[in-house]
Amino acid sequence: MKFALIDGLKIEAYKGAEGVCQSCGAELISKCGEFKINHWAHKKKHQCDTWWENETEWHRKWKGKFPVEWQEITHYDKTTNEKHIADVRTENGLIIEFQHSNINPDERRIRENFYKNMIWVVDGTRLKRDYPRFLKGKLNEFENTIFYKTDNPKIFQIDLVDWCFPVNWIQSSVPVIFDYLGDGTLEDTYNLRNNLYCLFPQIGRLRFVAEFSRETFIKAIKKGDWAFRVKQFLNHLVEQNTIIAQREKLELEKRKAINRAEFNKKLMTKRFRRSRRF
Ligand SMILES: [Zn+2]
Repeated sequence: MKFALIDGLKIEAYKGAEGVCQSCGAELISKCGEFKINHWAHKKKHQCDTWWENETEWHRKWKGKFPVEWQEITHYDKTTNEKHIADVRTENGLIIEFQHSNINPDERRIRENFYKNMIWVVDGTRLKRDYPRFLKGKLNEFENTIFYKTDNPKIFQIDLVDWCFPVNWIQSSVPVIFDYLGDGTLEDTYNLRNNLYCLFPQIGRLRFVAEFSRETFIKAIKKGDWAFRVKQFLNHLVEQNTIIAQREKLELEKRKAINRAEFNKKLMTKRFRRSRRF
């Protein structure tokens, strides 16, 4: 963990320090070595938060973009008595979880159900294949396949979503933001890594990805208008999906009517032929 409580204050680990866990109240000792980033660890081995993963520089950089009061907040569910430490919780109750390690779809679903109002930010550089896969889809935007252009130049409709994004994330019920920047030293011929790519939950058959800068994302979270903007966009998708579904239904009915008319015509001709024969 990045923070322990010392005299009731959230303090980062420093050599020789001792503190208390914000979540379970147990004693913590600082770990300040050469290989791992400075962090706090529980003095006695016990299960504090099973969802907690060892933090990387990537986690710390992200968390550090938000106010200290929003970082490492214990989220408590009164009905189940369950509690977990959220990476970031804004003053409006929006949770941001930064996910570096692998998480299977069942585990992902459990966490989404627990936090409900949340966003995932995923380290897209953990596996070597993830960025080239995304790039293949993204570069197709110029041919208007896979990444289809919309009225907004930074929003794309996509099909073949599993060609572009890791399969564990594509059924997520909340927005998933992919961050492909890494430590900033990775090849970036197309100048795409600095932006973030948000895959929205599936609405009907529609899938959309939005591209925005880190600064835009952080600003929208800090100002508190992220949730409103996403809600507005998702409502628009629901409307679009209804329009498409209605259009498809009408077309299907029209086709059925044509088929019925053709069938009746054939039947009449058959009967006519038959009646002529006898
Ligand atoms: Zn603890």
